[in-house]
Amino acid sequence: MSLFKKYNVPGPRYTSYPTVPYWTTTPTTEQWLESIRQAVDGGERDGVGAALYVHVPFCHSLCTYCGCNTRITRNRAVVGPYIDTVLKEWGMYVSRLGRRMHLEELHLGGGTPTYLTAEELERLIGGILERVSVTSTAEFSIEADPRVTTREQIATLAKLGFRRLSLGIQDFDPKVQDIVHRVQSEEQVRAVTENARECGFNSVNYDLIYGLPFQTLQSVEGTIDAVRRLRPDRIAFYAYAHVPWIKPGQRRFTEADLPSGDEKRMLYERGREMLEEVGYREIGMDHFALETDSLWKSSLDGSLHRNFMGYTTRQVAPQIGLGVSSIGDSWTAFAQNEKTLENYQRKVEAGELPILRGHVLDQEDQVLRRHILNVMTRFATDWGGEGLQTPFLDTVPERLREFAKDGLLELGEKGCQVTAKGRPFLRNICMAMDARLVRQAPSTQLFSKTI
Ligand code: SF4
Repeated sequence: MSLFKKYNVPGPRYTSYPTVPYWTTTPTTEQWLESIRQAVDGGERDGVGAALYVHVPFCHSLCTYCGCNTRITRNRAVVGPYIDTVLKEWGMYVSRLGRRMHLEELHLGGGTPTYLTAEELERLIGGILERVSVTSTAEFSIEADPRVTTREQIATLAKLGFRRLSLGIQDFDPKVQDIVHRVQSEEQVRAVTENARECGFNSVNYDLIYGLPFQTLQSVEGTIDAVRRLRPDRIAFYAYAHVPWIKPGQRRFTEADLPSGDEKRMLYERGREMLEEVGYREIGMDHFALETDSLWKSSLDGSLHRNFMGYTTRQVAPQIGLGVSSIGDSWTAFAQNEKTLENYQRKVEAGELPILRGHVLDQEDQVLRRHILNVMTRFATDWGGEGLQTPFLDTVPERLREFAKDGLLELGEKGCQVTAKGRPFLRNICMAMDARLVRQAPSTQLFSKTI
């Protein structure tokens, strides 16, 4: 049995620890605000400001692979009230935290942030920025849909300080684009990429997905060929997650249409090989960057971080989430906003922070979070040092022994180092350190037992 088959078990992507299904202790509003105050104070002592994530849920049509929180609508009248609500939510944070924060990062995600016109983007961003001081090292980034993003929007975003653009591409093959209901040409993508560069954006990312219906080795080669011609600075090359019971849009195809197991992994491996041939470097898990991009540099100097958006160049806390379903992270607590537009708007209108659920990290969570982050970003962790220990770690080597036997990592008494061969299995390795998973779902396998 190949290693890919052996370790092909479902597992989290570890964009947080504890992972969302294992959140148990939602903070009260006051606990959440206090954890943010402490993170802001800590950041200011280190000369680092806070991060803001703003979720824009609207999309014109549904891409059938989509796993995001979206509201599909062509009714543009929904946008104005939504901007009002987000600005009101932001106003609550500013007044209840009782301080003018320094802003280090601003990210607009979705949905489709470029569903908003240039004027609407200006009103939203302008309303946020007027209540905060922007640091000299601040980075502003936005996700965009090449099918609907105009030169005017890009120029406006550049004027507002945005320098990083992430485009949803997924696949260029016509048959795949048709079944996933996302038809966009190489020319459309080229136009948006060039517009961004001409307007002053210094990093363009493409999101690609492997494991989509009807993908073959040949179709993925065609997609990567197009990507090589367009040459973005960064690429996220994610595995498709088929969860039709959660996302009914995925019922447009069946499991029989999907590449499976080894076949799916070969799509990633072929893509990786083709990207590395032309100078891209693999970063952490599922990400690539050119050597000129800051993501590659941060992977070399140890500042690479991982959060709900994937890999980022540095750790910034707190991250405050604004908008429906947004997640905030103060490092010691998580809080997610209401997931339906109606509930989100109702709570904000009532003058409440619209928190639906979250988690206050206990001491063990905080220690394990650090180790899981180390493995995901540096491929190694060491729990011998002060403040890095918790009794659960004594049980970890036993669970990692099989990985060491397969040459996927080198195991020390109080730490491990993932080998190059082990990099595709970072999730499985982190699962061995996930106390909440191990305790609450003890039957979870880190690898297939049929060996
Ligand atoms: S993939 Fe992006 S554009 Fe498509 S439905 Fe999901 S959020 Fe909207």
